[in-house]
Amino acid sequence: MRLIVATSNNGKIKEISEICQDIEVVAFTDIIKSFEIEENGCSFKENALIKARAVYNALGDKDAVVLADDSGISVDILGGRPGIFSARYAGVNATDKDNLNKLIKELKQKEAAVSKAHYTAAVAMIIDGVEYTAHGWMHGEVITKPRGENGFGYDPVFIPEGFDKTLGELDKEIKKEISHRSQALKLVKIILSVTKQ
Ligand code: IMP
Repeated sequence: MRLIVATSNNGKIKEISEICQDIEVVAFTDIIKSFEIEENGCSFKENALIKARAVYNALGDKDAVVLADDSGISVDILGGRPGIFSARYAGVNATDKDNLNKLIKELKQKEAAVSKAHYTAAVAMIIDGVEYTAHGWMHGEVITKPRGENGFGYDPVFIPEGFDKTLGELDKEIKKEISHRSQALKLVKIILSVTKQ
């Protein structure tokens, strides 16, 4: 079976391949020309479904097995922001660093050195024309002083529950065990095993 992922991000393809080891995982851009998908949903789940449907329809193959994901961080003291806007928090062309700096600035404006926060990953799949969704979460807190170089995005300010280091400081193998994406992808594996035998 071939799992077609609605991303052109090689990091995501690698992460999914590592968890779904016995499955061939390919980027949709290896099969068809890349195109812009407007992520205008109101939740991680809706955005993941929008991406999965767009790629499934563009492939024009009813037997294609398609997977899409959407993820982000929600900070309690910011009323859940940036949430689904995590990738474009500081603007449409914002870099990870711009987004991180904006988060730190907003925390400081609230005079908060720390706040509870969580990462969410939503995954949508289309298998035999039927839609499936799954979620994974990683809870913890965010701080205003970035620490460590590992990971990406908001990782230098995120301390997962049960740890005293940020994801920027923790080994990447630890993140792989506990991350929101890993939790969601473990469910993907189960869904695939019961639908595609
Ligand atoms: P997506 O690629 O549309 O799912 O956007 C995900 C965005 O959420 C990224 O650009 C990051 O800003 C943030 N994000 C999601 N997962 C992580 C993570 O594991 N570490 C750090 N930032 C993350």
